[in-house]
Amino acid sequence: MMSDGAEYSRAGEFDYVVVGGGSAGCVVAGRLAENRGATVALLEAGPRDWSPCVHVPAGVVATVPTRHCNWAFKTEPQEAFGGRRGYQPRGRVLGGSSAINAMIYTRGVPQDYDGWEVPGWSWREVLPYFKRAENNERGADDWHGVGGPLNVADLRSPNPVARRFVEAAQACGYPRNDDFNGAMQEGIGFYQVTQKDGRRCSAARAYLHGQDNLAVVTDAQATRVLFEGRRAVGVEFQRDGRRAVVRARREVVVSAGAFQSPQLLMLSGIGPGAALHSLGISVRHDSPQVGRNLQDHLDYVALYASRSLDLIGISLGGALKVAGEAVRYLATRRGMLTTNYAEAGGFLKTDPALALPDIQMHFVIGLVDDHARKWRFGHGMSLHVCQLRPASRGEVTLASADPLARPRIDPRFLSAPGDLAALVKGVRIARRIMAGDALAPVREAELQAPRDDSDAALAEAIRARADTIYHPAGTCRMGIDAASVVDAELCVRGVAGLRVADASIMPRLIAGNTNAPCVMIGEKAASLIRSTL
Ligand SMILES: Cc1cc2nc3c(=O)[nH]c(=O)nc-3n(C[C@H](O)[C@H](O)[C@H](O)COP(=O)(O)OP(=O)(O)OC[C@H]3O[C@@H](n4cnc5c(N)ncnc54)[C@H](O)[C@@H]3O)c2cc1C
Repeated sequence: MMSDGAEYSRAGEFDYVVVGGGSAGCVVAGRLAENRGATVALLEAGPRDWSPCVHVPAGVVATVPTRHCNWAFKTEPQEAFGGRRGYQPRGRVLGGSSAINAMIYTRGVPQDYDGWEVPGWSWREVLPYFKRAENNERGADDWHGVGGPLNVADLRSPNPVARRFVEAAQACGYPRNDDFNGAMQEGIGFYQVTQKDGRRCSAARAYLHGQDNLAVVTDAQATRVLFEGRRAVGVEFQRDGRRAVVRARREVVVSAGAFQSPQLLMLSGIGPGAALHSLGISVRHDSPQVGRNLQDHLDYVALYASRSLDLIGISLGGALKVAGEAVRYLATRRGMLTTNYAEAGGFLKTDPALALPDIQMHFVIGLVDDHARKWRFGHGMSLHVCQLRPASRGEVTLASADPLARPRIDPRFLSAPGDLAALVKGVRIARRIMAGDALAPVREAELQAPRDDSDAALAEAIRARADTIYHPAGTCRMGIDAASVVDAELCVRGVAGLRVADASIMPRLIAGNTNAPCVMIGEKAASLIRSTL
C-alpha cells in the first residue's frame, strides 16, 4: 500500500477509485477488491479507526457530541425552530458514520423500496443484497442471511430498564415485535445491533481486511473529480496539506455521504449551473437536482430523571459502576459497555387506520440532552420519537468554492404542512408510554417537560428542542427521469465513468435506520460495477 500523497501523484493508478470510507464506500471497495485481477483505492478524509471509542460500543458517547471521528456539522438556522441551528454528526473516520452510529440494524419496509419506482431496486430485487451482506446470529430465514460480512446480533447484555420500557409500551396496547426486519415492522421490542463479540461491526471492520489489491488511504480528502472530456479519470485530494492525484482506469465511485457526495459533485462542476458559475466553478454538467431533495428524520427526545444505577449517568455511584463494567468488558466483552444506548424501541402508527407505522421510537438508557452535548448530573433515560415519512425537503449547497469548506446544509425541517402534526401525535404517545406503571420504580420527573399535553404545547416543545435522528438522504437522487442525478445503475447523468453510492441516492428516505440500507446500496453498486466487466 502506498503511504504518501506525493507518491500517489507519480504512481497512483488503480482500476477503481472510491471516495469515502463509510457505510457504502467500504462495501464498494471491499467487494470490488474481491476481484483479484482489479486494483482499488479507497480515499477517506478521516483517520484510521484506531480509537477505542469506535470499537467499544459504549464509546459512541465520546464521538457523537464531539469532533472526535466526527465532522460535527451544523445546519443553517431553521425557520421552524425559531432560527435555532441543527446539529449533524457524521463519521469522519474509516467506517464513516457506521463507526459512530448507534448500531441499530433495521431496513425499513418493502413498500419503501417499491415506492422508489426505480427498475432493479424493488424490495424483491434489493432483499438479496441485504441478505448477502448479513450474518445474522439468529440464523437464516426468508428475511435474513448468514455468512455475510456484516454481523447482526442481539444485545449481549440487555438493560433491565429497557425491558421495563418494552413492558410499558405493551401495557399501552402496542404489540411486541422481536424482529423489525421480518414479516411485520410494527411493534415494540429490542433492536438487533451490528456488533460482533461485543464489539462494533462497522462497515470497515466488516469489509476491509487488508486486501493487497486495495489501497486504503486515510486522512485524504477528495477535492475534485478529474475528467478527460466527459469521462471521469481520477480524483484530486489533499493529504498532509499537499495536493495529490489518483487516477482511475475504469471508474470513480463517490460514497462521501448525503452532505459531501453532492458537495464533491458540485466542486467537480456537476450541479446547478448558475450557482456553480457564481462561485467561479466551471460547469461540466448542469444538473439542478444535485444537493436537492434532502430528507431526514426529525426527532423529539422526552427526558426523565432517575435514581437507577442501571441507567448511564454522572454520579459517584455511576462512575464506580462503569469502572467495574470496564473490567468486565475487558474480561468477557459483556456488560454495560456493550450497550448501543438505544437498546429498545420500535415502529408505531399514530392512527390505527394507517397502513404502515409512521413513527419510530428509540429508548435510550441515559439522558440525551441536545445530542448528549449538554451534560447533566445524575442518571436518567430518554425516549426519542421521530416521524418516518416527512414531506419536508431541504438542500445541500456550496458555501464556497473552497473544497475544504463545509457544505451549507439546510434540512428545512417542518417546512411541509403535516409533518409537525404527525410528530405532535408521536410525542403524545411517547410520553404516555413513559408514564406507564412498568417504569414507575425507576422514573422521576420529566425534564424540560412541555407545559401541558395540548397540541400547541407539544408543538412548542418540538420547535424548541427537536433535531435530526441522523438519517440525511436523497441529495443525489436516483431515478429514471432525466432530471435525476444518477440513473438506475447509479451512474451520474451527463458524464461517464462516475457513480454515486451512499445514502444520497435514495429517491425517498426509507422508514427506519439507514446504515443497513447504505450497506445494501454498496453491495448493489459493487455488483452493478462488476457486471460491466
Ligand atoms: C450519530 C449517528 C447515529 C446513527 N445511528 C444509526 C443506527 O443506530 N442505525 C442505523 O442504521 N443508522 C444509524 N445512523 C445512520 C447511518 O449510520 C448512516 O445513514 C450511514 O452510515 C450513512 O452511510 P453513507 O455511506 O451514506 O455515509 P457515511 O457512512 O457517512 O460515509 C461517508 C464517508 O465519506 C467520508 N468523506 C466525506 N467527504 C469526503 C471527501 N471529500 N474525501 C474523502 N472522504 C470523504 C466521510 O469522512 C465518511 O467516512 C446514525 C448516524 C449517526 C451520525
